[in-house]
Amino acid sequence: MKIHEYQAKEIFAAYGIPVPRERVASKPSETASLARELGMPVVIKAQVLVGGRGKAGGVKKVESPDQVEAVAGSILGMDIKGLKVNKVLVSECVDIKGEAYVGIIVDRATRAPVLMASSAGGVEIEEVAKATPEKILKVAIDPAAGLLGFQARNAGMALYGDAKLAREFAGIAQKLYRIFVQKDCSLIEINPLVKLGSGSLLALDAKINFDDNADFRHKEWDEMRDLSAEEPTEVEAKAAGLTYIKLSGNVGCVVNGAGLAMATMDLIKRYGGEPANFLDVGGSSSPEKMVTAMRIILSDPNVKAILINIFGGITRCDDIATGLLHAQERAEIKVPLVARLTGTNAEKAREILKGSAVTPAETMSEAVRKAVSLAGGVA
Ligand code: GDP
Ligand code: MN
Repeated sequence: MKIHEYQAKEIFAAYGIPVPRERVASKPSETASLARELGMPVVIKAQVLVGGRGKAGGVKKVESPDQVEAVAGSILGMDIKGLKVNKVLVSECVDIKGEAYVGIIVDRATRAPVLMASSAGGVEIEEVAKATPEKILKVAIDPAAGLLGFQARNAGMALYGDAKLAREFAGIAQKLYRIFVQKDCSLIEINPLVKLGSGSLLALDAKINFDDNADFRHKEWDEMRDLSAEEPTEVEAKAAGLTYIKLSGNVGCVVNGAGLAMATMDLIKRYGGEPANFLDVGGSSSPEKMVTAMRIILSDPNVKAILINIFGGITRCDDIATGLLHAQERAEIKVPLVARLTGTNAEKAREILKGSAVTPAETMSEAVRKAVSLAGGVA
């Protein structure tokens, strides 16, 4: 789960990480008085759950108080990478002497959190990571010991070559790690961590992703979640108990079990196709779930064929078949459907689908090949 910059900064402030003075607003008319309160100039920043706002025109400095509302108005409602801007942050403009990057993620290779830092922070950090990865310092964190003072200070020395700044950096990095653990984050990032004219450090931007697997122990996340800012189909899927991730190909997939869903996507690619989504209907799949799954997949105009690959255990194939027919009754499905249903009640399912427009397949590879070719791919 992603949260907005302003929400991440509230957490930073609560842990003692310095942030600019700033206020969030959802209407242009609210912004002028906020700017007056903060003092000119201000920076107005789009609050969207996607990176690269600056480059997309979502971060603007405003010098004159009578331009605040107009600039806020131009950012509110803006479309940034398919997401609409519903809120802006009005922030004091600070005097920047240098921009660094610091973040913590879980590193799959070492199976531990890793602190990453770079003196080349700012809006180009992705380019830095790609072109000159040696400019990004990585410090493996032993989860049993946490981020130790000397590790954090060494990273600070490498970044700034100055003992005072290194200590200040270390304090911020250790607070970041505390948040990372206590709030069950999968990612926490400050980019840029700026050096001010006064010589101290400040978190100018903030990014936090929470680990959804921990949502059962964070009731407060419910209130922080901004459903209007998330991919709408993924929200609908989650509410229906489906795991759905939109991808960019043209073969829609309905599969039970994450492992089978991954294997199905691999096979689609093996036969020259591209999956349009990952979709796991989960263990017990009622016909209702199938209807929702079909609706979500068909809302993607790229989908040219749908592959249903079910290995019936707890999931009953006849439920899947009934759901498919319901979905066809409720909405005109213009794309071809290929179904491979095996396991519990597979015979019943075959009976149910007899005479319907669903193309049956006996094996997984037959099903995938048919779906890829019907979608206009290679196979
Ligand atoms: P992002 O593009 O979405 O990462 O947005 P950021 O909040 O990181 O801002 C992008 C860039 O705008 C920063 O790297 C700064 O160079 C610049 N910027 C943002 N706020 C200020 C500010 O208060 N003063 C100055 N001088 N520059 C700012
Ligand atoms: Mn940034």
